[in-house]
Amino acid sequence: MALTGIQILKMLPKKNCGECGIPTCLAFAMKVAAGQTEIEECPYVSDEAKATIGEASAPPIRTIKIGTGDAEFTAGGETCLFRHEKRFENQTGIAVLISTDEDAAAIDGKLKRANDFEYERVGVMMRNNLVAIKDAGGGDLAGLAKKVMEAAPKQAIILMSESVDALKAGAEACGANKPLLFGANAENVDAFAALAKDTGCVIGV
Ligand code: SF4
Repeated sequence: MALTGIQILKMLPKKNCGECGIPTCLAFAMKVAAGQTEIEECPYVSDEAKATIGEASAPPIRTIKIGTGDAEFTAGGETCLFRHEKRFENQTGIAVLISTDEDAAAIDGKLKRANDFEYERVGVMMRNNLVAIKDAGGGDLAGLAKKVMEAAPKQAIILMSESVDALKAGAEACGANKPLLFGANAENVDAFAALAKDTGCVIGV
């Protein structure tokens, strides 16, 4: 749970030396509580206090990474639900959906548009970040994952299926480019949890 400025102040050395760049320990504590500076900026705070404050101010939503290298996409790590409350740490992802029952020409067209899609929005470059591959039932999810890695190497991959076996084969085909595995629900959650441990991939519910 987040600590208040007064709770943080109690753990500071109270030298009021200004070496953290802020004139008083009280003002520094308030800024740490508001997430506007880091506890590490004070050179005199104890390791024990650093651990306590760091743990309490950790984002309630864990950061996850999908893919690797140029394809890596980071999500989560947020401390607020609305951007006007503070700021979002990571951009919202843009994804394109392809399916194992689509013909090759349609898939090629979507992947080309995903690769080319890029625009500037108030100084921030936005692009297509992910390709979601849906198993339409008995399709070659792993084969399609390989195709996406070849044709769209800067895209992180989401694999969607009700079949844990198909997802496992797809994750293995992706290798180090670990995809997000989607489809966990109340019935299959144990199998998905085992799959996540086995493959090192994050899962979506
Ligand atoms: S560096 Fe530490 S002791 Fe000095 S004012 Fe900042 S918080 Fe207080």
